[in-house]
Amino acid sequence: MQSKAKILLIYTGGTIGMMKDFETGALKAFNFSKLLQKIPELKQLDCDIETVSFDAPIDSSTMNPEKWVEIASIIEKNYTDFDGFVVLHGSDTMSYSASALSFMLENLSKPVIFTGSQLPIGDLRTDAKENLITAIQIASLREHNKPVIGEVCLYFEYKLYRGNRTTKINAENFNAFISPNYPMLIESGVNLKTFPELFLPVSREKKLQIHKNLDTNVVIIKMFPGISESVLSVIFDIPKLKGIVLETYGAGNAPLEEWFLYLLKKAIKSGLQIVNVTQCSIGSVTMGKYETSTALKEIGVISGKDITTEAAITKLMYLLGQNVSQDNFKIQFETSLRGEML
Ligand code: ASP
Repeated sequence: MQSKAKILLIYTGGTIGMMKDFETGALKAFNFSKLLQKIPELKQLDCDIETVSFDAPIDSSTMNPEKWVEIASIIEKNYTDFDGFVVLHGSDTMSYSASALSFMLENLSKPVIFTGSQLPIGDLRTDAKENLITAIQIASLREHNKPVIGEVCLYFEYKLYRGNRTTKINAENFNAFISPNYPMLIESGVNLKTFPELFLPVSREKKLQIHKNLDTNVVIIKMFPGISESVLSVIFDIPKLKGIVLETYGAGNAPLEEWFLYLLKKAIKSGLQIVNVTQCSIGSVTMGKYETSTALKEIGVISGKDITTEAAITKLMYLLGQNVSQDNFKIQFETSLRGEML
């Protein structure tokens, strides 16, 4: 007989738990116990739920790597006692956090589901209840008492996605996220429609490894026509800078100007990691397809393939924190570690 699943709800903050400040009218995070009082429906779910909250819940715009470590540490501490984890998080940086945690948690054999909402849970028209209840149900999915999902996911507005494939695209609609280059893993309708062939294999034999070392000496540069040598060279010269995510055009194309290629070449020679991702939301970087990307390939720029910018910057922080050797870095980055790229 299958026992009841045990789920740990981790509250970090976000609109889901916010209330209007009486004086300013602005939304701010409030106490978690009040949040749970607003959802008596949770008691009807066929699983045991325990909760833990950040001491001071935050708007996710103030999320940072120290707080990712805090989330990872809560999961580490409770890993053997629970069958699944639901992380309540603001939607603004949820894709960054889900991506970061996917790299930090290696050999996951249990689900970690990020969710939140566009309207506070106390609001009459809230999207929070559906998101939270279904996220908990998904985290409870098991076969022969073993979790079915062993990866970091994001659930929002009837869809479960691989977390490191998502990006927030809408500040207005309930349907706030897309997963441009990977299909949804579960669709919630009258029934939960699962697509298990798309799930990452659950690593049951290997032990969970938590990586807490993230290197923040990184930057994202978005290319635009007119970007100047004087501006770019200042960025490239930042002391201690170790990695750059370069958002290029289309299939990974960039200007052919000599100063630009020289700057990149010099930086790579001195040990800087430069990752090429596309500004387009759909599709992949294919260096060598056009003359405007062949040069990048030749000087050793790393291909981000179809990775999102959110996953690229967090993968960069993770790999730099792992002290991967210079020779190995490009190979590691161009390999899909947690299903984040082709
Ligand atoms: N500013 C909020 C946050 O990210 C928005 C949300 O929760 O949807 O914390």
